Amino acid sequence: MERIFNFIDGQYMYLPECKYLDNYAPATGEIYALTPDSTEEDLELAIQAAENAFPIWSKMTSIERSNILLKISALIEQNLEEFAKAESKDTGKPISLARKMDIPRSVENFKFFATAILHTHTPAHATEFGVINYTLRKPLGIVACISPWNLPLYLFTWKIAPALASGNCVIGKPSEVTPFTAYMLGKICQEAGLPKGVLNILHGQGGKIGAKLVAHPKIKAVSFTGGTQTGAEVARLAAPQFKKISLELGGKNPTIIFADANYEKALENAVKSSFTNQGQICLCGSRIFIEKKIYEKFKTDFIEKIKLLKIGLPNDENTEFGAVVSLPHLQKVMTYIELAKAEGGTILIGGERIKMENEAKNGYYLAPTLIENLPFDCRTNQEEIFGAVVTIMPFETKEEVLMYANSVKYGLSASVWTSNLETSNFLAQHLDVGIVWINTWLLRDLRTSFGGMKHSGVGREGGQDSLLFFTEPKNICIKMD
Ligand code: NDP
Repeated sequence: MERIFNFIDGQYMYLPECKYLDNYAPATGEIYALTPDSTEEDLELAIQAAENAFPIWSKMTSIERSNILLKISALIEQNLEEFAKAESKDTGKPISLARKMDIPRSVENFKFFATAILHTHTPAHATEFGVINYTLRKPLGIVACISPWNLPLYLFTWKIAPALASGNCVIGKPSEVTPFTAYMLGKICQEAGLPKGVLNILHGQGGKIGAKLVAHPKIKAVSFTGGTQTGAEVARLAAPQFKKISLELGGKNPTIIFADANYEKALENAVKSSFTNQGQICLCGSRIFIEKKIYEKFKTDFIEKIKLLKIGLPNDENTEFGAVVSLPHLQKVMTYIELAKAEGGTILIGGERIKMENEAKNGYYLAPTLIENLPFDCRTNQEEIFGAVVTIMPFETKEEVLMYANSVKYGLSASVWTSNLETSNFLAQHLDVGIVWINTWLLRDLRTSFGGMKHSGVGREGGQDSLLFFTEPKNICIKMD
């Protein structure tokens, strides 16, 4: 049985009195590791370590910080295979996906922000003769980075890299469901020479240690990615102390396909945007709208493509669709399938738990599921399911599909497929979402603003947005005479 430890003050903490939580391998349903159930005492140790480290880290030059973060990036890359295997085991995602997406992106996150801080500038204003204003940007102090289970190391590093690069000390809280790669990161930080106390990683329950972390008076800012309901709780805890918050929350993203789109590309991408990572990506499209003229053909072809997905053990090189992250999540997704049936939906494919054999017989496998005949405003089409359950609906005009797309409380992303410039411009202008992909999906440039509108979040991450979030501006006005 593997044992996970908190990483505090530059070392793994073994406390004999620590209680542990079971960590399950979704592929088999077996407990394979024990995760510390951190307490307020652990949090105080982490705060103390971060407080001691802040004067050292924040006073380093950008180049010094950059060099250490580049080493972290290089060391993750050198250990890519080990990280990918651990991520796949912890989450149930196919090893090929962890190898191709999760770990390379974690490498890039550190590389991107380590170099971004070497190219920033702050404004200066010549106000009138003899008066000049300039802006200083200072790190905030100790900040909290809280991440979810779907892209564990990818999203954890997406927060801690800019926080550290900007000169802050960090207390990170990965999801208790998928703690393993964050645990491995501690060793990498030691090897890279990150000064002790600069990054502290606390494991445990969100509602317990996560909430204590958010509410701690020494925490100046909270960068959170997770569910909308949890985001509201984080905001409630942070507001009385006027902390800065960045909230990246849930989604119910539309995939909109017009008859004039490149059909093969749209079809291929619809499979990816619906079922990558078993549909557990906040950017996955869960409502597919197809122009009526091609609806029946698309539906038939889409079902055929879904049948071809290789469902299997996450550690099998050929697997394209692995296990759901946990039993409670599997049960939640299955409840939505029952709801869809009750609302009059027709299950076109999937809709049930897959019973595997041998070591995987207790694993959490759910067939990729496609549903039709549901109205746009039913609960199945309005609430986030966050699994491989997708609905398909016809539409006739761009105005009609815009109304369907915008009808949900979420506003994270949309993927639009058309060869008509006017149609794409119209939807780009009017979709109430933070990210619109035209004729593509999940094509990311780390410099762009990333985040959602409405109940999908507050603030933006990425490039300058992250660096601005993790620093405080101070205006200096000088009169020369
Ligand atoms: P949760 O909201 O349950 O948890 C997210 C993180 O917050 C976890 O580390 C969790 O810990 C912690 N947490 C839980 N309760 C609290 C609390 N009261 N105070 C502080 N921290 C807390 O989300 P999931 O992990 O279930 O992730 C899935 C959700 O994340 C989906 O809604 C998805 O859309 C969203 N998401 C959004 C993204 C975006 O960029 N907009 C990207 C990826 C996912 P623990 O796990 O231990 O409970």
